[in-house]
Amino acid sequence: MLKIKGLHVYYGLIEGLKGVDFHIEEHEIVTLIGSNGAGKTSTLGAIVNSVKTKGEVEFFGANISKLPTHKIIQRGIALVPEGRKVFINLTIEENLRMGAYNNDENFERMRDRMYELFPRLKERCAQLAGTMSGGEQQMLAIARALMGEPKLLMLDEPSLGLAPKIVGELFDTITRLRSEGITILLVEQNAFAALKVADRAYVLENGKVVLSDAASNLLHNAEIKKRYLGG
Ligand code: ATP
Repeated sequence: MLKIKGLHVYYGLIEGLKGVDFHIEEHEIVTLIGSNGAGKTSTLGAIVNSVKTKGEVEFFGANISKLPTHKIIQRGIALVPEGRKVFINLTIEENLRMGAYNNDENFERMRDRMYELFPRLKERCAQLAGTMSGGEQQMLAIARALMGEPKLLMLDEPSLGLAPKIVGELFDTITRLRSEGITILLVEQNAFAALKVADRAYVLENGKVVLSDAASNLLHNAEIKKRYLGG
């Protein structure tokens, strides 16, 4: 589905990514793990062409690396950014409406589907998003991204700042979305939780992929345990 070749990201003279290769197959959950500054967010920004890049991003066989961001999103890639960034002064339903800007003809069908997936959002549909808890806002941010019916959903640090119980619910949701046919690229500092739900993982260090393997293997890899899983 997605093939990344020789991807570089530049912030002026700073190189955020230094030649990254990886791929995602349909229906997989792939996770990128790595410490602060490893290049995880830069990778997501490069895929939607919101940062300065060099290299190739192929989506279903087409090179999309030079397309403007909105065209990339139209092709079926959605990004839930770190920090959620829901529209706090809009209601839940209005946030979902914004997420359907590319898919307005299917708004009602998708809204109802999101309310099935996330019953809490239905209960609170007329409430301002800014008054919801962090976990609810995260669910809303995911639902809003799904309103456009993406083929690939990219999540940047979705568990950041959430209570442990809510983190569990969030990862259950991610697994459920995959079972509904959505492919997921998950960026996480919570490497343990990410490896538990993912099929495969890439470990980034200093803007490069230093290791890739089945997630279940990495959970038992001594070096990964020491560096990313707290021993
Ligand atoms: P974190 O989890 O801390 O967000 P990350 O793995 O997502 O880390 P990136 O944010 O992609 O890492 O950063 C990769 C490198 O690029 C880092 O060295 C970072 O300092 C640098 N970088 C990222 N954004 C910018 C920016 N806007 N301007 C300058 N340098 C940047």
